[in-house]
Amino acid sequence: MVRKILTKSSVVGLNAYTSDARYLGKVVDFGVDLQNPSNVTLIIEGKDKRYVVPVSYIKAVGDIIILAENTPLEELSESKPSVSASTQPTTTATTTSPTAVSTPSYPVTRRPVQQPSTQPVIPRCPTCGAALIYYPQYGRWYCPKCRKYTEVPPAVLNRVPRCPTCGNYLSYIEQYGRWYCYKCGKYVNV
Ligand SMILES: [Zn+2]
Ligand SMILES: [Zn+2]
Repeated sequence: MVRKILTKSSVVGLNAYTSDARYLGKVVDFGVDLQNPSNVTLIIEGKDKRYVVPVSYIKAVGDIIILAENTPLEELSESKPSVSASTQPTTTATTTSPTAVSTPSYPVTRRPVQQPSTQPVIPRCPTCGAALIYYPQYGRWYCPKCRKYTEVPPAVLNRVPRCPTCGNYLSYIEQYGRWYCYKCGKYVNV
């Protein structure tokens, strides 16, 4: 009885036999052929080798697995330190290894993880949109156009650059396009 849908848990751990009742090994995992993803394979661990067998060659599944007569027994050569060891994560190979010898290692050129850009944010006046000035001595933000103090939301505040010297918030001077520290009285490159 061949089940229509084979779950990993229903076959992993079962002993696999050839059609002439020769013990092959124990099913340890499933694999997917990257070149042909519909080709799902069993990984069968024998005494000293591992086999890759396409699931389509399963003749019967019960307490054991019986393979069809013409089952190709491809050996999985992953346990040996292979030539391309540098591209294969050896520690996880046993559980996630795809199929076979000739599988092209998919590109491992992983980009360095980029931090979400921490672009400095210019705190602006909610009324007129002008860049606000931070006065360290008052600890407040001032709109030079509206001539009044205003609040800056914390989300914006988190991304306002600070002076490397005194640690106070910098103020963006729009006409120069630069950040200025009113405490230190100097421009700061951000
Ligand atoms: Zn304003
Ligand atoms: Zn400063």
